[in-house]
Amino acid sequence: MNGSMHIGDDKDRDRDVGGSTPTVTIADSRLAQVGDLSVRRALPQRTRRTVGAWCFADHFGPATFSGDDRPDVGPHPHMGLQTVTWLVSGELVHRDSLGSEQKIKPGQLNLMSAGKGITHAEEASSPFRGTFHGIQLWIAQPEETRNGDPSFEHHRELPRVYLSNGAATVLVGSFAGITSPARRDSDHLGIELDLRTGKAIMPLQRDYEYALIVLSGALAFEGHIIEPGHLAYLGDGRDECTIGVRSPTRAILLGGVPIAEPILMWWNFVGRTRDEMIDAYRHWEDDDGWFGHVKSRLDRIPVAPPPWMVNR
Ligand code: MN
Repeated sequence: MNGSMHIGDDKDRDRDVGGSTPTVTIADSRLAQVGDLSVRRALPQRTRRTVGAWCFADHFGPATFSGDDRPDVGPHPHMGLQTVTWLVSGELVHRDSLGSEQKIKPGQLNLMSAGKGITHAEEASSPFRGTFHGIQLWIAQPEETRNGDPSFEHHRELPRVYLSNGAATVLVGSFAGITSPARRDSDHLGIELDLRTGKAIMPLQRDYEYALIVLSGALAFEGHIIEPGHLAYLGDGRDECTIGVRSPTRAILLGGVPIAEPILMWWNFVGRTRDEMIDAYRHWEDDDGWFGHVKSRLDRIPVAPPPWMVNR
C-alpha cells in the first residue's frame, strides 16, 4: 500500500500553500494495487496531504471480474481514521472486530470509525462476476476521538439535494442546508454528484477547502477539464462554484476546514508520532488482541515494520 509516487503538475502546486485565494490545481492520481484491485489514489498527494480532514482517496474500477480474481481485501487493522466506502456498482460484505457484518450496495454508505483500533475485511461474493466501481475515503480523526472506541455505521438511505442538472447525495456533513445522518467528528463534507450535461451551480462555504474526484464522465471548471484519475483541488474562499458538465458525470466533492495539526500516515494508520506507529505495528504483528479479531474466509494481511523501526 506504500507504492512509489507518481505526481503530476508539481510546478503549479506551490501557489496553494496557506492562501485564501480560490485556486484550481489538477494533480494526477497514482496507480496502486489493493489485493486484486488496481486503484487510482487521488489522496494523499505529496504536496497535498489532506483536504479538510480527508486524507485518503482510492478510486477503484470500473473493473469487470469474471470469477478468478476478486475485488476484496482480507482482515487488516485501522487506527485514528474513519473509512467511508461508497459503491457505484458491485457489492461487498463488510466484517469487523466489533462483530458487524454488513452488505453494502451502490448508493449506501459504510462508515467505520477506527479510534484506538479496529480490524475489518471487505469481501466480495465468491466468485464475484460483474462490474466493480467505487471509492474508499479516509477521514483523519481529531484529537478528541482518535483514541476513542471504534464504531461502525451503515446508512441505507442518504439525503439528496436536487440541482438543475442532477442530484447531490450527502454522504457526510451538510450541503445546501441538508445534513447527512452519518457520524462526523470534524467539520467536513462529502457528497456524490450525479450530473447530466449542462451547468451545475453549487453553494460552498468560504472557510472550507474543496476537491473534486471524477469517477466517470468529465467536468469543466475555470478553464480546466477534470476527468477520472485526478484530484482537482479548488482551494478555499468560495461561496459557490459553477461546474460545466461535458457528458453524464459522477463525481465526489470533498470539503472541510483545513486541519491545523500535522498528521502522520503509515500503512493503514493515522497518528501523530512514529512511536505510535511502532506500537500499532507491534499490536498487529503480535496479534495481541489490541485490534480485535474478525471472522473472514480471507487471510490476515501482513505488513513489514515501519522503516524508522528497522533503522534503530
Ligand atoms: Mn480498510
